[in-house]
Amino acid sequence: MSAKSIPMVYQLRSIFLAVSLGLLITGCRVGRPITPVSGTSLNRVDNLALGNPSQASVSDPNNYLISRPQYVLSYNRSRGIANWVSWRLSPSWKGDSRRTNDFRPDPLIPAGWYAVRTGDYTNTGFDRGHLCPSDDRDATPEDNAATFLLTNIVPQAPRHNREVWKALEDYERQLMSNGNDVYIIAGASGTGGTGQNGFATALANGKLTVPATLWKILVVVPAGSDNTFQITANTRVIAVTIPNTQTAADKTWQAYLTSIDALETLTGYDFLSNVPTDVQQLIELRIDGGNS
Ligand code: MN
Ligand code: MN
Repeated sequence: MSAKSIPMVYQLRSIFLAVSLGLLITGCRVGRPITPVSGTSLNRVDNLALGNPSQASVSDPNNYLISRPQYVLSYNRSRGIANWVSWRLSPSWKGDSRRTNDFRPDPLIPAGWYAVRTGDYTNTGFDRGHLCPSDDRDATPEDNAATFLLTNIVPQAPRHNREVWKALEDYERQLMSNGNDVYIIAGASGTGGTGQNGFATALANGKLTVPATLWKILVVVPAGSDNTFQITANTRVIAVTIPNTQTAADKTWQAYLTSIDALETLTGYDFLSNVPTDVQQLIELRIDGGNS
């Protein structure tokens, strides 16, 4: 069929659609500048720079936004643990402050909600496991103490915590030592894990959920990157989901590599939503090779 035989109205509509699509694609390509929190150095940037995965806000108790200089998290009131925690690892957060071990209720939990206490973990067979690790935040005593707030802690099988999860945490800092900054999002999904005393779905009379899996996403960028547009199809991303069991530690973290797409399916979240859409599509389906 030649163009002449297509009625003018359809031709105009095609042109309109083509232009609209072009604008849409152009719009999606725009990366976002990462705005430093005022009074901090450039590298101490917004911990939520890559996007708010679940659109957490202060209006939803089960997707409740808690923001502090050291990390940002979505807290789930009915589970008593975070849905996810997001932070950036860079040398500006590192120093020689000691591990405070100051596990304590989070003062940002609204009045009237149950705030998990450190005693809720005592003799349960589960560790008080960090999502944002203590060792990622040791520039000052205050920074380190923030990681011990119990909203950043989940009931974690001891071997999971001390072996396979720890090895991945150490690897994050190795990436940093090699000249990178790392955006990290870690979370806890599902219900029921196997600790030292066997399987459990919850602690503290049901107020503290034992998650079924801990997952994590790493986005590795050159140190000092200040714009999400610098995340490209070649950016290394590492995604894992590791069952919250003692035996999970029989394997290395590389055995649990997955794609961000798979974690989006698991959680229902949209990760890296501030990254250009076409770049998200390419890097979210990739499964890292696990080279360390
Ligand atoms: Mn740990
Ligand atoms: Mn995404």
